[in-house]
Amino acid sequence: MRLPFHLAAMAAGIAACCATAGAAAATTAIHCGQLIDTQAGKLLGETTVVIDGKRIVAVSAGHQVPAGATEIDLSTQTCMPGLIDSHTHLTGQTSPTQYTDQFRWNTADYAIRSTVYARTTLLAGFTTVRDLGDSDNISITLRNAISAGIVAGPRIFTAGGPIGSTGGHADPTDGYRSSLAGDPTPREGIINSPADAWKAVRQHYKDGTDLIKIMPSGGVLDESKSADNAQMTVEEIKAVVAAARDYGMTVAAHAHGAEAIRRAVLGGVDSIEHGTYMNEEDMKLMKEHGTWYVPTIIAGKFVDEKAKIPGYFPPQVALKAAAVGPLIQGTAGRAYKAGVKIAFGTDAAIYPHGDNGKEFGYMVEAGMPAMFTIQAATTHAAELLKQDKDLGSISVGKLADLVAVPGNPLTDIGLMTKVGFVMKDGVVYKQDGKPAQFVANLDQPILPADSGQGF
Ligand SMILES: [Zn+2]
Repeated sequence: MRLPFHLAAMAAGIAACCATAGAAAATTAIHCGQLIDTQAGKLLGETTVVIDGKRIVAVSAGHQVPAGATEIDLSTQTCMPGLIDSHTHLTGQTSPTQYTDQFRWNTADYAIRSTVYARTTLLAGFTTVRDLGDSDNISITLRNAISAGIVAGPRIFTAGGPIGSTGGHADPTDGYRSSLAGDPTPREGIINSPADAWKAVRQHYKDGTDLIKIMPSGGVLDESKSADNAQMTVEEIKAVVAAARDYGMTVAAHAHGAEAIRRAVLGGVDSIEHGTYMNEEDMKLMKEHGTWYVPTIIAGKFVDEKAKIPGYFPPQVALKAAAVGPLIQGTAGRAYKAGVKIAFGTDAAIYPHGDNGKEFGYMVEAGMPAMFTIQAATTHAAELLKQDKDLGSISVGKLADLVAVPGNPLTDIGLMTKVGFVMKDGVVYKQDGKPAQFVANLDQPILPADSGQGF
């Protein structure tokens, strides 16, 4: 049976309330026309997925709806696991006024916008994100509000603010006049020794981050000279990684330059982000160390395009954007051929939130098979997050995160920008291409980020 839209929306609203309130949710059966088995890398035919509460309890071939289950008809769609973007910044979005907004906007201005970016991301089919750099720990608050059911958005694993060195890509005061710049410290993520690195990671743990983001190379959007120079020592990176491991956290490294990539891999990071000037030696090292690569091709293309508009970026930034932007897609293609492990990530915020799905087409253009790009955004990304027990495939026991597109994305990768059905944690957020009604749950207590279970 196909639920009329208003009933489905109502059911979704009730489910949102009750699932977060801890009450038992009804059984739902999703009838998929086709289903992508991301673990086997296979397109399956007609499949029924049964969901009880937040979890998948059965996956079977054909149309087999258990008695009493509510059916969702996706018989004209291709189902796949909820998508994972391994590189987002849900607390901002590039604009020509961003460099002056930061002197006028309060934390709350960014925080309110972040709830809109989060919802947009979820409705585009991304049920989980790794958030890699915010300010004022807004992404931690956003994560908590989403998991408490107050606002709609993807499941967030956040790094909080980035960690880097004085004058580097993580320094929030690059380009400021000296009387405004001050001297940011490990509390603000700025480190200049292994001891500082330990302090900064422990501060992040105290603040409630899930992982750590470092900036061992220059970057494009800050107002310093180089996008690719090395900005952290191997000893500093090793200290970050060792401290992060103490708290069960992974480390993501923004790095454009070859030397910075080499140092980050030797330092033991889990992933290299962007990787623009990655050379053969870096690729060999990444394979030896099992380091993931998260290319973010769409961000490169977007900044290259905007660099051509006079005044969109400050002059120094425009120069760097035009140099770095066009190269990432080629690097991604070479890394794929070399056999480097690749996880899907886009650097959302650099381009408008919600366009995340365009990255699939750019990855295919770079030479990756369509199935591989979908695995990059599901099984691979779940493994990078160390959440593969719960995420990344439509399998019994995993969280009920499921999206669907109208057709076969393996023959038309553009369909990945047309996600029409979104379920997260067993709750429907989008159906028939339309957002479902979302009812905020204001009764759930918000726990501090680390609620200090046990003694
Ligand atoms: Zn980024």
